[in-house]
Amino acid sequence: MKKLINRPERVVDEMLEGLVTIHPGLLRVSNHNVLVRGDADEVRERQVALISGGGSGHEPAHAGYVGAGMLSAAVAGEVFTSPSARSVLASIRAVAGQPGALLIVKNYTGDRLNFGLAAEVARAGGMLVEVITVADDVALAGSEDHAGRRGIAGTIFVHKIAGAAAMEGKDLPQVAAIAQAAAENIGTMGVSLSAGTSPAVGRPSFELGDEMELGLGIHGEPGVKRIPLRPADELTDELLTHITRTLRLRPGERIAVLINNLGATTPMELAIIGRRAFAWIRDRGISVDRIYAGTFLSSLDMAGISISLMRLDDERLRLLDAPTSAPAWPNISRMVPGPPADRIVLSADEMPTFSGGPPQTDAGKKMERAILAACASLLDEESWLTELDRISGDGDLGTNLARAAKAVQSHLAEYPLDDAPAALKALGLTVQEMGGSSGPLYGVLLLRAGSSLEGGATQDASTWARALVEASNAVSDLGGARLGDRTMLDALIPFAEQFQHAIRLGSSAAPALEAAARAAEAGAEKTARMVARRGRASYLGERALGHPDPGAVAVAIWLRAVTSAVCIL
Ligand code: ADP
Ligand code: MG
Repeated sequence: MKKLINRPERVVDEMLEGLVTIHPGLLRVSNHNVLVRGDADEVRERQVALISGGGSGHEPAHAGYVGAGMLSAAVAGEVFTSPSARSVLASIRAVAGQPGALLIVKNYTGDRLNFGLAAEVARAGGMLVEVITVADDVALAGSEDHAGRRGIAGTIFVHKIAGAAAMEGKDLPQVAAIAQAAAENIGTMGVSLSAGTSPAVGRPSFELGDEMELGLGIHGEPGVKRIPLRPADELTDELLTHITRTLRLRPGERIAVLINNLGATTPMELAIIGRRAFAWIRDRGISVDRIYAGTFLSSLDMAGISISLMRLDDERLRLLDAPTSAPAWPNISRMVPGPPADRIVLSADEMPTFSGGPPQTDAGKKMERAILAACASLLDEESWLTELDRISGDGDLGTNLARAAKAVQSHLAEYPLDDAPAALKALGLTVQEMGGSSGPLYGVLLLRAGSSLEGGATQDASTWARALVEASNAVSDLGGARLGDRTMLDALIPFAEQFQHAIRLGSSAAPALEAAARAAEAGAEKTARMVARRGRASYLGERALGHPDPGAVAVAIWLRAVTSAVCIL
């Protein structure tokens, strides 16, 4: 186990200390693992108090939902362990006044018993207390029997709806009825890719290997079945099929969607799931009025997600949108989401259109051959470049250059190949799209080469030599690197200078190119003995020593290909 903790037995205590520090709107009840609204005393006689809680390990539930417009108090047990009835009672006493308290309980035996007992004791003491149980998990709902259903992430919707109703001043029976109705219209189902690790246990609660567990509980209780890994879209469809069926959602109905991270899922994955969920639901004629994605109710560091759907009517939507100061409730715009195709602003940088067509001149044909050869060489060497960039960078260079090469291949017909300066500029506009560091560096290289050629005699090798030197300088100006800094310049500059040198000495183009290509290769090789001062490799210091710079190797590769393609004449 690797976790940023101090002592396993102190995690809950130290977490609560941290939460009241990070969120000054929260207070802790002495001697109990209970957090309450800082203004609990002020509002106690004005509104129904809402209390929830359960074992720890589900953060930000439930302390993150304490605040005006959501919970009045959250009770935290040990990790995955129900809090004691004594602590629940302490929370009731800390926040409830004459209007009474509603306890929102996730359907687990331990929670039901401890919250139920505390409610009983409080009532015996003359307080007004109601309990509602949330059982939103549809995975095990084969029958109408709700006993097996667990309370999971959909519970957060209940906190929000009930909290807003309480803030509006509704009385306890009304708040309880609104919460109960919301709970009955929520369905949730989850999937896990790997189990979470409890600090006290020190190893994951189960092993999944290459499989996924569908429909499991938030403590890692077994789900409905284990399935082979499948793409996000398929999985989303399966979860949604099950939830919409159980909720009997019909076309024309409105819902809110909550994509919940079970602990170790990236925002990137949540967005991919959210995108599919929206499209799938919309295709069924159901309106997605709100969609939320984030960590709402986790299971330690479990990898996986759950999706919750809540049926909406006007009142429920209004309560969902009402403001809250609870730190973990997301501050999303109160807007109905739309499909990605409707959510586009047109970019201003539309590509200038060139009048392309098959090359007519010898020079144009040469240009075409050179471009195609460069592309082919980068595609051939993709995996090698990837490997080199993995050693000294982030491993994307091979893929980036291959993507750029494919883009160039598909745009080739649009390039004015007979007009060398314009063709190089067009090429520059295509390759800059590749992104990374290489995109802009290659972009400036080709654009500067194009503008330098402009107005010169493009049939003269000396014009090309000057363009190559100027283009290399432009890369150096943009990126701030020089010869010897272990970058693509260590291949580019020797190429340009060797070519210019040979031409000045009276060499013809072909042997000059050949010598220049050799200089580029030698330059790339030399980078294996250099420490990077620019780019990502600079963070590695001497660790990349012994391996050449991927950017320099790539340059040597395509310059060699260009040389061979041009010199066969
Ligand atoms: P990123 O580091 O953004 O992933 P790429 O993988 O696209 O960039 O490109 C990495 C290559 O870019 C390096 O191997 C190096 O040759 C080159 N490079 C990085 N920074 C510079 C710079 N400032 N000037 C010139 N070349 C650079
Ligand atoms: Mg890279």
